[in-house]
Parts: sequence; C-alpha cells; structure tokens
Amino acid sequence: MLSYRHSYHAGNHADVLKHIVLTLCLESLKEKDKPFLYLDTHSGAGRYLLQSEHAEKTGEYLSGIAKLWEQPEIIDLLQPYFSVLKYYNRNPALKYYPGSPLIAKQLLRPQDKLVLTEIHSSDYPLLRQEFSKDHRAQVTKQDGFLQLKSKLPPESRRGLILIDPSYEIKDDYQKIAHALLEGYKRFSTGIYLIWYPVVSRKQTQHMIDDIIKTGIKRIVQIELAIRPDNNQKGMTASGMIVVNPPWKLKQQMHTILPWLQEILDPHHMGKITVNELVPES
Ligand code: SAM
Repeated sequence: MLSYRHSYHAGNHADVLKHIVLTLCLESLKEKDKPFLYLDTHSGAGRYLLQSEHAEKTGEYLSGIAKLWEQPEIIDLLQPYFSVLKYYNRNPALKYYPGSPLIAKQLLRPQDKLVLTEIHSSDYPLLRQEFSKDHRAQVTKQDGFLQLKSKLPPESRRGLILIDPSYEIKDDYQKIAHALLEGYKRFSTGIYLIWYPVVSRKQTQHMIDDIIKTGIKRIVQIELAIRPDNNQKGMTASGMIVVNPPWKLKQQMHTILPWLQEILDPHHMGKITVNELVPES
C-alpha cells in the first residue's frame, strides 16, 4: 500500500519550484487560442490545508511558500502563480496551498482539457470532489504512468504533461525514462515536465542519464538546491526536467532563480542551475 501523502509536503521549496515552472509553461501555451491538454499523471489531492495535522507535523511549507507569501513584492514573472495562490487565499493569511491540478484548473481556459490521475484511495476522492463541476476535466483512479500511452496524442495536438511521482517506490526512478519515451513516441511536440528530488545524487543522476539515453532532443534541467549534496536523510534539492521547453523558459528561470534563492536559501548553501541537457540538434 502507498503511504506517501502530499499533504505532508505541500508548499515546500520543491513545490514552489515545480509550480513556478508549471505556471510559466501553461502561460506560454495560452499565447495561442487553440486548445490544449493538461495531463497530470500523479495529481495528488489538489488542495492542501496548511494548518492541517500533516502540514504542521513537517512544517515544510514554512521554509517554502510561507517565505514567498511574506514578501512585500514579487517579480512580474510570478504573477500567474500568485494569482492562483490569491484565488485560494482570499484573506491575507496563507491557509491553502493549491497543488498542480488546482493551478491548472485556475489557469486553463474554457476550451482546454484536463486529464488527472491519482492512485491513492484517500487522495483520489478529494481530487474528484475538487473537479466535480468542471466539465473540462477527466479524473480517474489509475496508474499515471500508463496515461502516457493511453491519453496521447491529444486531439488538439497541443499539450503539457506533468510527471510528478512521489518516488516512494524506488522503481519510479527507473520508470521515468520509459514512460517519457512512450509519451514522446505518440506526441513528440508536447511539453513534458518531470519533477525529481535529490535525496541521493547518484540515484537522481542515474535517472537523468536514462532520460538522455532515450535520444529525445531539446531537454532543459532546472534545479534549486537549498543545501549541498550529502549522504544524510532528506531532500537537499529538487528539479524539473523540461522536454520541448517554451523558448522563453530558460531566460525566465535565469531571472527567477536568483530571486528565489535569496528568499529560500539566503546564505547560498545550495545552488541554482539552468542547464541545457540535450540541445535541439
Ligand atoms: N502533482 C502534485 C502537485 O504538484 O500538487 C503532487 C503529486 S505527489 C508528489 C505524487 C502523487 O502520486 C501522490 O499523491 C501519490 O499518491 C500519487 N501516486 C503514486 N503512484 C502513482 C501512480 N502510479 N499513478 C498515479 N498516482 C500515483
């Protein structure tokens, strides 16, 4: 049985990075009127109460989104991300953190579609409830990795796929490259976002090497480390692998990451990275 619940981690530094990249990519797809598909293979519950027992137990959001929330000013590029946060937090106090499905729910347009899968028996009903009145969304309790085969290509031939496993099962690291390739073979023009943690650098690098070996071109890596790599328990960094990044994304992250680092890692214990893993040709 799966024990991972995202409610313990919602709004931590890794969510902040992941969701900033997600919002920038969604906004870039919205530059054209043509509809697109948002496929979220590992959706989670959708909405997280930050004063819940789970969130308070780890307090991870305190060194993540809570720090951004208290900034008197944010940079313009983060307006879409903050617009969603503000939608779910009408009072000045930060109460809810919206996960990836709710971010997409707010930013997508009437013509766009969402396909969301979540396998956990406690989180799935919560997610389904969030979308009960949203006709754009299909929410199922299925294995997210299989959706890359069954839901692609989208009818609109435009789309963003977020692959965000919990890596609770070590297999997840091995499954990523294969699942990505299955999707890419069917839909090579989609934007693919793969989230990864750095708990063991060796394990993460192995997964990234497998992605490079697929032969897929145009891949960028974006990473925020808040501590140096080490052999102790816990996540020191997290990152996003982006296949077919929007053309502005690298530049946008060169602006955002130093700002984010000042807030989340003011003593520069870690490091920020924007790296072209595989160029276009
Ligand atoms: N994407 C969410 C967000 O950004 O708000 C967070 C997702 S969380 C990191 C990973 C989720 O994947 C967990 O809720 C877990 O129950 C779910 N999960 C694990 N294995 C899965 C699978 N094979 N298919 C679908 N969901 C899975």
